[in-house]
Amino acid sequence: MNYRHAFHAGNFADVLKHAVLARLIDYLKRKEAAFRVIDTHAGVGLYDLSSTEAGRTGEWETGIARLLDAPATGRAGELLAPYLDVVRGLNPDRLTLYPGSPLVTRRLLRVQDRLTAIELHPADAALLKANFAGDFQTRIIELDGWLALGAHLPPKERRGLVLIDPPFEKPDEFDTIVKGVAKAHRRWPGGTYAIWYPIKKVDEVERFRKGLAALAIPGILDIRLTIRAPGPEPRLHGCGMAILNPPYVLEAEMADILPHLANTLALDDGAGAGTVWLTAAS
Ligand code: SAM
Repeated sequence: MNYRHAFHAGNFADVLKHAVLARLIDYLKRKEAAFRVIDTHAGVGLYDLSSTEAGRTGEWETGIARLLDAPATGRAGELLAPYLDVVRGLNPDRLTLYPGSPLVTRRLLRVQDRLTAIELHPADAALLKANFAGDFQTRIIELDGWLALGAHLPPKERRGLVLIDPPFEKPDEFDTIVKGVAKAHRRWPGGTYAIWYPIKKVDEVERFRKGLAALAIPGILDIRLTIRAPGPEPRLHGCGMAILNPPYVLEAEMADILPHLANTLALDDGAGAGTVWLTAAS
C-alpha cells in the first residue's frame, strides 16, 4: 500500500468525486428517515494543502482552487453549493485545507444519519480516527474495504450509499470492483453505490464499463470527466463515477454541473464531460 492520497487531495478527480457524493447525499436527505454512508476506502479525512506531499504535485491548484476562483452561477452553482460550502467552511480566509470523502459526507449528515469510514493503511486509519474522535455519528474501522462489502451490508438503516474509491495500485483493481459490487448488490440491492475510477488507458476503462454492464443491474449511470487529451503514454487524463441505483434526478443534475467542471478544470482542448447509461433503467 504505497498510495498516499495527500499527493492528490483536491485535484480534479477529488472535485468530481466529492461533487457527485454531495449530490447523492443531498438526495438521501429528501426523506426524513435516517441513512448511512459507507466509505470503503476513506483516506485520512482532512488534507493540508501546504504539506510537502500536496506541495510537490500542486494538483489541487488545477482542481479545487480553480473551482473556488470561478464559482458556477445559476443551477450549476446551486447544485455545487453543498460541496463547496463544506470546503469554504474549512477555509474562511484562504484555501489551505481540503476535506476527504468522510469529512465531506460528515458535514452533510443530519443528526439521525451515520457514517462508516473504512481504511486499511494503519497510519491513515489512525489519523482518520483522530480526525473523528468523539463523533458519535461516525464509526471508523481499520479494515480491508472489500470485506466491508460483505459483512457491513446491508446497514441497519436500510437506506444509504456506499462509496468505493480504491487506490488502483493493483493491476486487477477494476476486476475486484466488478466482483465486489456484484456481491454487495446481492446483499443489498436497494443501496446506492458510487464507484470512482481513473481514465488512463481507454481499453481498460471500456472493459471495466462492459464488466459493470454485464452484471445486468438495471440503471447504472456512468459519469465521465476528462481534463485533457490522452497522451502518447498512458496518463491520468480523466476519471469517472459509475453509479448503481442513482437517484432519478442525478442525470439532469450532472447535465447542469458537468459543463462547468469541464470548462473550469480543462488543461487543454481535450477536456469534456457527460453521462451514459451502462444499463437501462428498469
Ligand atoms: N476516498 C478518499 C477521499 O475521497 O478523500 C480517498 C481515498 S484514496 C483514493 C484510497 C485509500 O484507500 C487510501 O487511503 C489507501 O490507504 C486506502 N486503501 C488501500 N487499500 C485498501 C483496502 N483494501 N481497504 C481499505 N482501504 C484501502
